[in-house]
Amino acid sequence: MGQLQDKYKSYREPQKFMDAGVYPYFREITSKQGTEVTDIDGNEILMFGSNAYTGLPNDPRVINAAQRALEKYGSGCAGSRFLNGTLDLHVQLEKELAAFEGKDEALVFSTGFSVNAGVLSVVVGRGDYVICDDRDHASIVDGRRLSFATQLRYKHNDMEDLERVLQRLPHEAVKLIVVDGVFSMEGDLANLPAIVELKHKYNCSIMVDEAHGLGVFGRQGRGVCDHFGLTDEVDLIMGTFSKSLASIGGFIAGDKDTINYLRHTCRTYIFSASNAPAATAAALEALHIIEQEPERLEQLWKVTNYALKRFKEEGFEIGETESPIIPLYVRDIEKTFVVTKLAYEAGVFINPVIPPACAPQDTLVRFALMATHTEEQVERGVQALTKIFKAQGIIK
Ligand code: PMP
Repeated sequence: MGQLQDKYKSYREPQKFMDAGVYPYFREITSKQGTEVTDIDGNEILMFGSNAYTGLPNDPRVINAAQRALEKYGSGCAGSRFLNGTLDLHVQLEKELAAFEGKDEALVFSTGFSVNAGVLSVVVGRGDYVICDDRDHASIVDGRRLSFATQLRYKHNDMEDLERVLQRLPHEAVKLIVVDGVFSMEGDLANLPAIVELKHKYNCSIMVDEAHGLGVFGRQGRGVCDHFGLTDEVDLIMGTFSKSLASIGGFIAGDKDTINYLRHTCRTYIFSASNAPAATAAALEALHIIEQEPERLEQLWKVTNYALKRFKEEGFEIGETESPIIPLYVRDIEKTFVVTKLAYEAGVFINPVIPPACAPQDTLVRFALMATHTEEQVERGVQALTKIFKAQGIIK
């Protein structure tokens, strides 16, 4: 028996939930990621577990753009951006993203995760400080761990705690505050206006992760920085293509000197193959669509507000959400899995959120809206979940 096998044969965590028949992961879908999907058993399921807020992964224009890129450039670039992997398409997308986000320049990466992991690992170093909200995304956590900077955390959205951290740090040192613009599990927003005030008081820089803000907040979906009118105050903006931009990939945008430094030092950019042509073209087309169709944003907010109102009416605990991400608190790991399973059996796909994605007492199921959802679909989802939450004694 091998060493690794010896070490992991007692890893029983997932098996425990499989044995109980409530294991909720890796459910196979055989259709496009729309508001309704088909699963491996041929069931039609209402999808409230997607991050495609703009509802664009099925849009014929996006699919067409990806197909054209596949024809023209082939299936992959077989190399890094640094060497043989830069297409005119990547450069065009970088220019358009920089302009959209109101920054000098942008770099396109192959995933959003590799943006945070790579950028944070090199943008701060020895003698610098990186300060994160304790609910920041895992990719931010990994990026800060990879850097040689001193790592500090403050309590979620607690500006007094952030100030307590900042006031102990040397005024002249580089201090980068990194936050999710929209927190991905709870749907609440970073208190950017207060963070910007602290930036000035304590001489800091700010990086905002717009993964869940892009396509949802701000003018034409520019994100949370634009929503607060604080784009110029934020030094670095990152985003992903895997949510509102209907594809896969990510970007960092900022001033030309910082971006030039990252272009030549960021290891996940240089030592990883460039974004696939079809994925790049899909993101570019999705960007054009969200710029040209503000009515998508209106529709997204219409169904979001409807869902928020209905969940409140039914007595769900939904926390501080201000976005299309609606957390339905369960506050018990087993029950969170049970609810997820029962919802699935009732034809409603939602995602369970358990540690480390949240604190143990804060487990929840995450219900997320897309611009393409109808109120009738939302109503079906709310009614199915209300029945389940009542039967489980989670709501009255
Ligand atoms: N940041 C946040 C806040 C996220 O939620 C995610 C993905 N869930 C990422 C970064 C990583 O993005 P990607 O899926 O494009 O790797």
